[in-house]
Amino acid sequence: MPGPSTAILWFRRDLRVHDHPALAYALANFDQVVPLFVVDNRLVHGRWRSPNRLWFLAGALRSLQHELRERDSALTVVRGDPTALVPRLARETGATAVIMTRDLTPYGRWRDVSVSLSLSASGIRHVAGRGLLVHEPEEVPRPAGGPFTVFSPFHRRWLAAPMRAIEPAPSTIATPPEVTAAPDVGPGELLGDPVPTADRALLPDPSEAAARRRLDRWAGSEALLDYAAGRDRLDLEGTSRLSQDLRFGLLSPVDVLVRTGGDGSGHRRFHSELAWRDFYAHLLWHLPRVARESFRAELDGVAWSTDAGAIESWRTGRTGYPVVDAAMRQLLATGWMHNRARMIVASFLTKHLGVDWRVGEAHFMAHLLDGDPASNNGGWQWAASTGTDPQPWFRIFNPTLQGRRHDPDGAYVRRWVPELAGVPGLDGADVHEPPPGVYLDRIVPHADGRSRALAEYARATGMPDSRDSRRRC
Ligand SMILES: Cc1cc2nc3c(=O)[nH]c(=O)nc-3n(C[C@H](O)[C@H](O)[C@H](O)COP(=O)(O)OP(=O)(O)OC[C@H]3O[C@@H](n4cnc5c(N)ncnc54)[C@H](O)[C@@H]3O)c2cc1C
Repeated sequence: MPGPSTAILWFRRDLRVHDHPALAYALANFDQVVPLFVVDNRLVHGRWRSPNRLWFLAGALRSLQHELRERDSALTVVRGDPTALVPRLARETGATAVIMTRDLTPYGRWRDVSVSLSLSASGIRHVAGRGLLVHEPEEVPRPAGGPFTVFSPFHRRWLAAPMRAIEPAPSTIATPPEVTAAPDVGPGELLGDPVPTADRALLPDPSEAAARRRLDRWAGSEALLDYAAGRDRLDLEGTSRLSQDLRFGLLSPVDVLVRTGGDGSGHRRFHSELAWRDFYAHLLWHLPRVARESFRAELDGVAWSTDAGAIESWRTGRTGYPVVDAAMRQLLATGWMHNRARMIVASFLTKHLGVDWRVGEAHFMAHLLDGDPASNNGGWQWAASTGTDPQPWFRIFNPTLQGRRHDPDGAYVRRWVPELAGVPGLDGADVHEPPPGVYLDRIVPHADGRSRALAEYARATGMPDSRDSRRRC
């Protein structure tokens, strides 16, 4: 008589038990499931290494171990090269399939193809399914073929795509006894005992239970109702702060979407931000070259500045522009930055300082808890005007106007740039324009940064210089 059928469930960016389609599939189709996480050496040493994210990941893995133990199962955690380890463990456990949530990044695709080739050579199936996004790329097809490169038509199609049902968390997960008998491995050790560079006291609890509490709070909040207006306010708690939970899959985006359903403008606007997340993931899937190159190839001809002093001033929040400095310090202290602030500092680096968007992208990836190859790349290319934004490159944010508009009382600046708090005469929004001598000198005057950017982008594209464009933003 054949023994029980076994599948490996390979966790990656889906560290949860609620609404987990790959887990539900494994339980429905196999007698036993072996939950597995591989600490890929690339996570610890690769291009996008981040102590903050490694620390969060260690906590998320401990949380997953707990959730699985509660369900009579256990998480096998190993460190090494997944393309070798996953097929080996599949053979050793007698699994006939390896089941996973699909990963759309260029590296994830390469890794999964390598694993699937190796598995099929041993007669083991490889099943990659939904769970990372609201909709998969194939579910939001562009009628003309190819990828959507403009958000609005993508969004219309995204809204019309049918939604899958939520998968409840299983109460038990049948797992081979030799797997459950093994003691849990400390994920922190395998990850090199990561110490966050951010202030530990300001980091969110990295567990599925805490993420679900954050979602509960957000779904019932006034801020969600006001999201359409409040999301741009730097000084308010106007956004969900769920990005790290979506990044590591402590929450599923479909769960977040369903729990925050409603007819109001806040609900609709919040859902459109989840659509942006899908938009950038799909874009990277269709056009993996954008991970390294400008989406608008003609803008790869921009002669970027390599001024190390200016880059360091930006990184450390010492540019002399209060709102830019506040945002950069918020990132270092918390591993998170408000979306409006991300747009302001990214525009400042690429336009005022003329520095390559890839420099900013890398700094964000080093610090953001939610650092995501697709959304970060999309956000940076958008801000640098090398990406999908249909607006022309002569839209250049004025950091002072942005600060006055989105931090009207100056509370955000005073929180993160404490040397500007309590300065006599700098009341309310005036903190965004300290007089000479009161704060750091601006590393570049706004007008100079703006004209330099306009001239350089014009040169690179061969388009007329639009220095006389008077649009203020
Ligand atoms: C230069 C730049 C870099 C960025 N890098 C990242 C990144 O690495 N990872 C990341 O998750 N987001 C990134 N964003 C998008 C956005 O800033 C963050 O998702 C958001 O600030 C997270 O805070 P929140 O969870 O409170 O967002 P909310 O406003 O509550 O939004 C809800 C969710 O929608 C998604 N979302 C919101 N805005 C965007 C957006 N513009 N693009 C894609 N998804 C979005 C996120 O998953 C977010 O958690 C970047 C934006 C810019 C301009």
